[in-house]
Amino acid sequence: MIRWEAHTCLPTHPQADFAPLDALHAAGVNHLSLNVGADMNPLPQIMAVLAAFRARIAAAPERYVLAASVGDVRRAAAEGKLSIAFDLEGALPLQEQPEMVGLFAALGVRQIHFAYNRNNNVADGCHDSERGLTPLGRRMVEAVNRAGVLMDCSHTGRNCSLDIMAASSQPVIFSHANPLALARHGRNITDEQIRACAATGGVVCISGLSFFVGKEYPNADDVARHVACVAEIAGAEHVGIGLDICFDQDGLDYSAWGEIDRNYWWPARDYDLSGPPPTFTPPQTWQQLPEALQRVGLSPKEIEGVLGGNMLRVAERVWAPS
Ligand SMILES: [Zn+2]
Repeated sequence: MIRWEAHTCLPTHPQADFAPLDALHAAGVNHLSLNVGADMNPLPQIMAVLAAFRARIAAAPERYVLAASVGDVRRAAAEGKLSIAFDLEGALPLQEQPEMVGLFAALGVRQIHFAYNRNNNVADGCHDSERGLTPLGRRMVEAVNRAGVLMDCSHTGRNCSLDIMAASSQPVIFSHANPLALARHGRNITDEQIRACAATGGVVCISGLSFFVGKEYPNADDVARHVACVAEIAGAEHVGIGLDICFDQDGLDYSAWGEIDRNYWWPARDYDLSGPPPTFTPPQTWQQLPEALQRVGLSPKEIEGVLGGNMLRVAERVWAPS
């Protein structure tokens, strides 16, 4: 039984504290995808974060494993360690160069989506005008398939995500996205996107972020409700969990990398930045999910799939063989 958390964010800073990851591990998570940067982060910042996070994992081999394969994930779980792989949110760090995908893969990045909310020269963001996957984007999909990296469509424009799913020769996931049918938000996804993802053999992982759940303080039952909705649309074997917890930490200096234009990356139409900040389901949600999923009518086998088996199946096919 593997519990797979498809997307977690620490501060994008080399000195980020790993304690929240230990809290997820204590709550039962065996493997997590840890963000190392997005389109709003300059490449030097992303490289500094990658170097620091790799060193932190290497320095604690009794606690962490940097997973390069599903075999690593299973071994870490058997030894009571937390398996970690990295993810990138956006294609700007790829510098218009498909070869960068393989380089990031060699550094531990095993999951990527191409646009963070706004359009770039590779793909469309979900909060921008629709164009579709660009010619460079098609080459990037091939590079992702070739590098054995999970192709993710979270934060991506609707039509563009359909283009990516049609172009990919491998299963495609949404590592943190919720059904639009339950919460009207530009980041959430249509039944058509959910069915297209399932048709690739992929998985839609449910976020516990308040904006996307459509509730101010979401809990495990809310996450389970979104799981059940996607299961109804596409089948329980195509649902996973990516709670999308963003652990803020005080006292970190980001001045070397410049200001982030929050109004650009999180447009007011979808994000009321003057209102209450988004809330996240806490790590302990993982302990409550099995019963919450039972309450929405999933069978024990379906629950095992949602909590990790489904992502394990996809990673087994996409990542380089163990
Ligand atoms: Zn995200």
